[in-house]
Amino acid sequence: MRYVSTRGVAPARRFTEILLEGLAPDGGLYVPESYPQLDLETLRGKPYIELAHAILSPFMDDVPDLKNCIEKTYTTATFGDPEITPLRTLESGLHILGLSNGPTLAFKDLAMQLLGHLFESVLTAQKKQLNILGATSGDTGSAAEYAMRGKQCVNVFMLSPHGRMSAFQRAQMYSLQDPNIHNLAVQGVFDDCQDLVKKVNADAAFKERYRIGAVNSINWARIAAQVVYYFKAYFSATQNNTQEVAFAVPSGNFGNLYAGYVARCMGLPIRQLILASNENDVLDEFFRTGKYRVRQAALATSSPSMDISKASNLERYVFDLLQRDAARVSGLFSAGAEFDLASVPRAGFLSGRSSHADRIATIKSLYRQYGVTIDPHTADGVKVGLEHRQPGVALICLETALPAKFSATIREALAHEPTRPAGFEKLEDLPQRFEIIPPDAEAVKRYIAAHSLG
Ligand SMILES: *Cc1c(COP(=O)(O)O)cnc(C)c1O
Repeated sequence: MRYVSTRGVAPARRFTEILLEGLAPDGGLYVPESYPQLDLETLRGKPYIELAHAILSPFMDDVPDLKNCIEKTYTTATFGDPEITPLRTLESGLHILGLSNGPTLAFKDLAMQLLGHLFESVLTAQKKQLNILGATSGDTGSAAEYAMRGKQCVNVFMLSPHGRMSAFQRAQMYSLQDPNIHNLAVQGVFDDCQDLVKKVNADAAFKERYRIGAVNSINWARIAAQVVYYFKAYFSATQNNTQEVAFAVPSGNFGNLYAGYVARCMGLPIRQLILASNENDVLDEFFRTGKYRVRQAALATSSPSMDISKASNLERYVFDLLQRDAARVSGLFSAGAEFDLASVPRAGFLSGRSSHADRIATIKSLYRQYGVTIDPHTADGVKVGLEHRQPGVALICLETALPAKFSATIREALAHEPTRPAGFEKLEDLPQRFEIIPPDAEAVKRYIAAHSLG
């Protein structure tokens, strides 16, 4: 498989060449030259590992020990269930897909754990080392750190906004004592952290000398890994391969829902992909009206992992929407802030938005009706999914985090604490290790230079 850039200038590359990079050199995102077509008959009933291998091997055809990486990643020990992504049925035709039983209790573990094993495999083969620099508002950073901890060939430098994450999220990241994991608490907000990553990456000499890499949601390996659970969920929710389903997905950077779109391009009978935004509704507006307007800044909400002002992965979808016209995509996205595709049909997507009050009401109503507790992000997806539910089409709502991560909102909705999975009871009491730094790119570079590998 070869990968091309959505901006059309960068040369086509193989998977292992794009694995360790962020953006293509022309500023675009890499996408596969074509979508492999899968035969549903041969896949139905396969366990997660075999399904993952069938779906990922066309995308990752130059990773020699892919099978081994997949087998090391998707274990009952890591994901707490032999199904890996168990489907919970609330009532006939309404399901919650459990994606959040990995080490950091959010769906990002499913892709990030595989990324850790792929990095290790490819870097070891190339006898290379990598310094990963990232910014997080919570879930990405912890998923990356738990995936990379203890790996000989990688160092992680994770920037987080000092004092702005939940106590649980902070404890999860800062309690890691592995010498290759570095938490930098920036005196600023999440946007400051992202700006610092951009500034360090803009210094080409520094980037080259210290081999700076990324694990953000535009990484194709993460998208591909997420395609797998759409297939798994489909086979769990249906009896035969003619049935159609709908997926409701709480969305931020559009990585998760875009993976559902890729699954449909590979032959999965998905009738509707239902996008849920929170108060930061840039994506909802795009899917309803065709207008894309990057916001000045993200609002802070009670589903914080969806607080975005622009959606990084949207460019990949727009590339297909415009029949892969790279010149046109380049015009739209390099100009940046605003465009209008109202005249281009966006078939197969529905969308909606959810507010704090909706979130609270949805958490309450699922608890009363079905006795299940869902997290605030999942609640956004359920709220919008139910608004678009169609008779005769199974609705599968993706659970993107466990409620234990967001206890303040759960207390507000249900007046009790969410249950904590085993092993997390005393998380906040563990000793924490992090470094407070000013929002200054030179300070980040000095820290990396002093703590990087070889
Ligand atoms: C990252 C995240 C999202 C948003 O996913 P995208 O792929 O960025 O659209 C939603 N919910 C939770 C809990 C997350 O961590």
